[in-house]
Amino acid sequence: MRKPILIANWKMNGSLHSNQALLVRILAKLRPLRKTIDMAICPPFPYLFQVRDLLGYTGLSLGAQNASVAASGAHTGEVSATMLREMGCRYVLVGHSERRALYHESDRDVAARFRQVLSAGMTPVLCVGETLGEREQGQTMATIERQLQAVIDETGMADLAASVIAYEPVWAIGTGRTATPEQVSETHRTIRQFLDGCQAGAGEALRIVYGGSVKASNAAALFQSPEVDGGLIGGASLQADEFSDIGAALASTLAEADCECDTLD
Ligand code: PEP
Repeated sequence: MRKPILIANWKMNGSLHSNQALLVRILAKLRPLRKTIDMAICPPFPYLFQVRDLLGYTGLSLGAQNASVAASGAHTGEVSATMLREMGCRYVLVGHSERRALYHESDRDVAARFRQVLSAGMTPVLCVGETLGEREQGQTMATIERQLQAVIDETGMADLAASVIAYEPVWAIGTGRTATPEQVSETHRTIRQFLDGCQAGAGEALRIVYGGSVKASNAAALFQSPEVDGGLIGGASLQADEFSDIGAALASTLAEADCECDTLD
């Protein structure tokens, strides 16, 4: 059984004061769910230390929003995967559409970052997804397969299988426009089929989460499909009640409150 996972992407938001207030409220509500679902918080780099301390032994994990293509050296402004590991990160987002679009990260760059994250002993959360134009032209899977293939070419299927995939249609991120549960379920299923075609059983084993304007009001419908193993949450992760309600909606999709999946503790 694939254990669901809920990941907060704080993007470039927060302050020492607001982070503390947000996390205290989130932890009070979500900590009891830690055996049912995996949870991770990805703050901006400067707050990793603060968030690591606040998460402590709560069972929620620390994550980062990106990692350098390089292991170390003359890369001013970059942060290496080993540094993130040292800070206690367990997950690292790679290939977020804002990185691909605003900072021109190519499929090859994303694959190199993916490799760095894995080599440092963390789990990459590989973000893939199509633009609105690509969807309208029937290119959704061609785009996603190209993004996945770049990583497979760099690391091989075995390493991809060690990751989490986040399906994030670009047109749904931060726009308030959400993919329908049917669109999400179908795309996840097709991603699994593609991966199974690369290596038997790979697609079935991998966790695929959905991201794109998930809110408390639409979470239950989006998480209902057995194809959907959780969510990558941007804007709503900055509001304690919204994020906690999304977590509760994800946990309630499981028949057993205490599932027999591999846990954090
Ligand atoms: C994201 O940043 O990955 C994301 C899904 O953002 P939002 O939930 O705000 O659409």
